[in-house]
Amino acid sequence: MEFKIKAYRYNPDEGGKPYYKEYALEDYPGMTVLNALIKVKSDIDGTLSFRRSCRSAICGSCAMKINGISKLACKTQVSAEIEKFGMILVEPLANMPVIRDLITDQEEFFDKIKDINPYLLGQREDEGHNGFHSLKEGEKIIQPLYFKAEFQNLTGNNDTPNCILCECCYSECEGVVGNKKYLGPAALAKLYRYSEDPRDNDRNGARLVSGSKPDGMWDCVHCQSCQEFCPKGISPVKSIVKLHERTIKNSITFSSGAKHVVSIAKSIGETGRLDEIKVALDSGGIAGLINDLPMAFGAGLKGKIPPLRLKLIKDMDDIRLAYKELDLEEK
Ligand code: SF4
Repeated sequence: MEFKIKAYRYNPDEGGKPYYKEYALEDYPGMTVLNALIKVKSDIDGTLSFRRSCRSAICGSCAMKINGISKLACKTQVSAEIEKFGMILVEPLANMPVIRDLITDQEEFFDKIKDINPYLLGQREDEGHNGFHSLKEGEKIIQPLYFKAEFQNLTGNNDTPNCILCECCYSECEGVVGNKKYLGPAALAKLYRYSEDPRDNDRNGARLVSGSKPDGMWDCVHCQSCQEFCPKGISPVKSIVKLHERTIKNSITFSSGAKHVVSIAKSIGETGRLDEIKVALDSGGIAGLINDLPMAFGAGLKGKIPPLRLKLIKDMDDIRLAYKELDLEEK
């Protein structure tokens, strides 16, 4: 069956603006979008540029927008796209500059990965820890018997070690749309992956500290797009939530995001209600409060004025009990 594939085209050497070019191809059973692009390049238009390598959803090179969604071209069946959209539209990933056609500039993405120190730090100090075996050079290995238990938080939680750095999550991330400096889901999932590695010796939480700086983990907007579009079934947003929990547990609360969470927990724990004025003050200080004034003024005009003094709710004992169960009392 014949189908149309429409490709985003842009060549800075030729000047001018980006445009779209349409190609007609014959489908065959099992044909992927990458197969189709390779066919276009070899038989119709050799100038069409795109990245590809393994063709097995392992290298992440062929990630692109296919009918508006960031996907791996090698993992996307032509027939499924045609059934849904009637044609195939291929465009470069979003949230990064385009170098040519479907090829994006990955520098910013990988700079952010580098920012989180994506390697094991030092040695573990806990000699004799179950499953650890000391090698002469100091490297620690985990005996197979203990592998499952030791890596439970990584493999059992959301499979972050399977990340292939394809950038699909980064391309779909609303946090990056709003703030280009935000580390983004892949870098933060990596941060979590190394923080949870039982061989890592980041005992003073240097990674958590660096991830707590502005544009780090607290800038996630929880849109869930990263987990929705990851072709490897990873949930970076789950990693980010775990990072938040670990950061608070390690008392790394200098960031406004962490202060915000601590203040909300405290307000609910004390009164059963949300003291919005106190939370705004605790999170951003006087400057933050002044910043929020136009929004507060707008809310006030609509009759949404937070009370200056909060009364205890009548079922406060239940809240205290819930806090105790969750081990949140001292937060
Ligand atoms: Fe790609 Fe998933 Fe890794 Fe994001 S988390 S870079 S979508 S494999």
